[in-house]
Amino acid sequence: MTDPVPSAHAHAPYAPAAARATGTAVALAARPDLVVCHECDAVHERITLARGTVARCRRCNALLGRGHVLGTEKLLAFAIASLLLIIVGNSAPIVTLDFQGVVSQATLPEAIEATWAAGQPLVAVLTAATALVFPLVFTILRLYLLGSLVRGIVPRGFVPAMHMLHFVTRWGMVEVFLLGTLVAVVRCASLTSATPGIGLFAYGAVTLLITAITAAGTHTLWKRSSEIGGTA
Ligand SMILES: [Zn+2]
Repeated sequence: MTDPVPSAHAHAPYAPAAARATGTAVALAARPDLVVCHECDAVHERITLARGTVARCRRCNALLGRGHVLGTEKLLAFAIASLLLIIVGNSAPIVTLDFQGVVSQATLPEAIEATWAAGQPLVAVLTAATALVFPLVFTILRLYLLGSLVRGIVPRGFVPAMHMLHFVTRWGMVEVFLLGTLVAVVRCASLTSATPGIGLFAYGAVTLLITAITAAGTHTLWKRSSEIGGTA
């Protein structure tokens, strides 16, 4: 599967002269055949990129898109797998501690609750947001959008959902949580027996899936919605 993107630059879109003179708002026609560079605003013709190729801005060399292996169907499969693994990651222990025969286990929600109870509400809220809420919202949004697009339907609220997806993509830091937990487990290992649990391995898989989905970008979703026609 390939992702469409740009080749040569052209001129930027502009409002009709009458509208410019009066300052009134006008409805500009959407041009799905064009791509605008997010760095310098140069406008390029959208083309279909071959797998493994990249397109860069002719003016500033910014990355505009990649030819991806993942199509909408594969991205949907990744999103379904991600949701299942998030459920496993939150219901199975992330770590098991064995201190002189006293075994203690904790799932991610239990660890967040314990952190809050230990007088660290800021850490608890940040952990809950970056490791649980944002990755979960990211996955559910992807499922909502892709579930409709693969069936040839533009879902209701497509544009607001895409904006929200862009927001949660920036704040989902499940890899930071994973790295922090691994460091904590290694440090605990010097004091007691600490064993990573199934939940931690599930989150490792979630990290890989979300990274792959994020790397595929959102060009595929925009293009698919344009092909179907209209945005709800
Ligand atoms: Zn540029």
